[in-house]
Amino acid sequence: MTVGRPGEGTAGWDGGSLRVFRIPMRTRFRAQTVREGVLIEGPAGWGEFSPFPEYGPAECARWRACAEEAAFTGWPAPLRDRIPVNAIVPAVGPEQAHEMARRSGCDTVKVKVAERGQRFAEDLARVEAVRDALGPSGRVRVDANGAWDVDTAVSAIAELDRFTLEYVEQPCATLEELARVRRKVGVPIAADESIRRAEDPLRVRAAEAADIAVVKVQPLGGVAAALRVVEACGLPAVVSSAVETSVGLAAGVALAAALPELPYACGLGTLSLLEGDVVADPLVPVDGMLAVWRPTVDETALARYEMESPAWVRRLEEAVR
Ligand SMILES: [Mg+2]
Repeated sequence: MTVGRPGEGTAGWDGGSLRVFRIPMRTRFRAQTVREGVLIEGPAGWGEFSPFPEYGPAECARWRACAEEAAFTGWPAPLRDRIPVNAIVPAVGPEQAHEMARRSGCDTVKVKVAERGQRFAEDLARVEAVRDALGPSGRVRVDANGAWDVDTAVSAIAELDRFTLEYVEQPCATLEELARVRRKVGVPIAADESIRRAEDPLRVRAAEAADIAVVKVQPLGGVAAALRVVEACGLPAVVSSAVETSVGLAAGVALAAALPELPYACGLGTLSLLEGDVVADPLVPVDGMLAVWRPTVDETALARYEMESPAWVRRLEEAVR
């Protein structure tokens, strides 16, 4: 294939080499057991196009724009050289939660709550264990992934805040519910699942549904586009990953590095969810911090996970507005 910038709005791909990857996940996420996508190499570096399976061409267009920005345009200048990241404690028992928090090296931990099939007492014990592991200076946030109704959220947040919560991520599913919870509790509310498209942060703000916007760079169309969205939204942003390889994570790191304000640890320490990576020096946090830099694809690492996939090339080609 020829190398050069792909034409705006063209359906085909003539923009340079495409490499398709498939990496098993260590931990199930969004019902996924593997992470797949396309890596694009261009004059500015490598970009990653890895929309989740359920997304159609219109939605995938933004993910493609993010990959093309990385490969052909490059990113705005960083304002900082290290990004604080949070650790994640899934719906495990309190002993394991304590151990995971203690060993993470992070002073901010996100704890999964409201897991289907579990009792609230398990959430409470898990959050207590994480608070105990971090000590009073650590920050504990919880993520309910939209699972609570308004009344359950209000009482659960009051109980969990005994252990002093930094914020609650997506306590309920809808903006209207988030706004109602937000009026009834003192703990800040973050919107995550409510933000999937570029226009969503503005809707969150208009509905007064959240205090914090969780933003991901691929669904927002790249670093420059995400910066504009965050500025227009006016809420503090927590940059999170879409569980990318280090190539995709680098775009999230670039966004976190370019934001004028970064008051919260970011959700970019997710590489450990994947069994492997496509670079030689993965973007993994050290002592809760990710260095702001851009790893390049390593052929030996990629060879382990590369596959032929006309379907993925077609998906990229069809990802146009
Ligand atoms: Mg979340």
